[in-house]
Amino acid sequence: MATRTALHVDRYSVILLGAVGVGKGTQAVKLVEALKVPQISTGDILRAEVAAQSSLGKQVQEIMNRGELVADELLIELVKSRLSKPDTAKGAIFDGFPRTIAQADALEKLLADESLPAPVVVNIDVPDGDIIERLASRRVCLTCGATFNLALDEKAIAAHKCPAGAVPNVVQREDDKPETVQKRLQIYREKTAPLLDYYRRKRALRVVSGIGTTNEVFARVLIELDSASE
Ligand code: AMP
Repeated sequence: MATRTALHVDRYSVILLGAVGVGKGTQAVKLVEALKVPQISTGDILRAEVAAQSSLGKQVQEIMNRGELVADELLIELVKSRLSKPDTAKGAIFDGFPRTIAQADALEKLLADESLPAPVVVNIDVPDGDIIERLASRRVCLTCGATFNLALDEKAIAAHKCPAGAVPNVVQREDDKPETVQKRLQIYREKTAPLLDYYRRKRALRVVSGIGTTNEVFARVLIELDSASE
C-alpha cells in the first residue's frame, strides 16, 4: 500500500486534522517516511523557538502555555517561510496547521503560489475521553520533538538520544496538563472543528478512526490517500 501511494502521484499536500492528542504527529512522522516529503508541524516549530528563547519564542510562550492559539498572521508567515525552502518542492505533511478558517484560506493560496496540489485532508477521530487519558501520559523531548507514552515507553525515555548528539529534555508539555487540555479541546471545537465542513464542501475531507495501534491507524490513512489520488 505504501509503495502504491508513494508512486501514485509525485507531489503531496496532506493536512492531518484532528483535536489535540489524536496522534497527528505520530502519523505525520510515518507519512514523511512513506511519501518522502517533510512534516510541517507548527507546534514543533513554535516549541523550538520557545526553547531557543528567540524573540518569537518569548512572544508566544505564554499563549502556548495557556493552550490558546497564536495569531493567524504569525502562523501564516511562519508556514509561508517554511514552504519557501527547497525541501518542500514535492509537498509537505501539515500537522497542527491550519487551525482556523483564515489559516486554511491562506494555505490554499500559499500552496498555489508554490505550485503544490490542493490538500488532501485526513481527519483523525478520537473521542474526548480517550484524548484526555492519552495526553496525561504523553511525554515530549523539547530538544528534538520525539514523543513517548509514559505508560508504554519508560525504557525508551531513559535511553532516548537526540539526533546530532544534542542534550535530550523529555518532559510533560505544560499544555498537556489536564486543565489546559480541556481548554485546548474547547478551542478546537470553536476554531478548528469548522474546518471539517470547510474541507467537506471542497470534497477534500477524509475521516479515519484514531483508535488502535499506530500501524492500524497508519494503514487507514494510506487507504484514504490512495483513494484520494485516484
Ligand atoms: P500543537 O503541538 O500542534 O498542539 O501546538 C501547540 C501550541 O502551539 C498550540 O496550542 C498553539 O498555542 C500553538 N500553535 C500551533 N499551531 C498553531 C496554529 N496553526 N495556529 C495557532 N496556534 C498554533
